[in-house]
Amino acid sequence: MSAEAAVISTGADQPYWDGLAEGRVRFPRCAGCGRVHWPAVWRCGDCGSWEHAWFDVEPVGQVYTWSRTWHRFPGLESLSAPFISLVVTVDATEGRRLTGILEGDDAAIRIGARVRGRIATVEAAGRVVPALRWRVEA
Ligand SMILES: [Zn+2]
Repeated sequence: MSAEAAVISTGADQPYWDGLAEGRVRFPRCAGCGRVHWPAVWRCGDCGSWEHAWFDVEPVGQVYTWSRTWHRFPGLESLSAPFISLVVTVDATEGRRLTGILEGDDAAIRIGARVRGRIATVEAAGRVVPALRWRVEA
């Protein structure tokens, strides 16, 4: 199953998932006031506009927080434990954050560390879905 076929969203975030399937990380910017929204919304809470323009960003940012998980979860058997989950403040998004799993050496992981993401896939509950993997930048 392709990653594209596995993600089904009828929500406002569908362009995000479509972007990941195409190899792009995208965020919505309100066409009315310019605010970047995440999670995606149908209507801007600031200005009331229903229009959003999605823009691509480079998947780079800073670790906002992280956690090491020592046990496995049902449905996520494809992840070998332990693994480190990150919340990353993505550059050029007005402080919006994305999650993902750390790959590579974890010795330099800390809050504020610079990380770069790549789009990978993960098998979750029998579906293959796009997911971000982050690596600490040297
Ligand atoms: Zn707005």
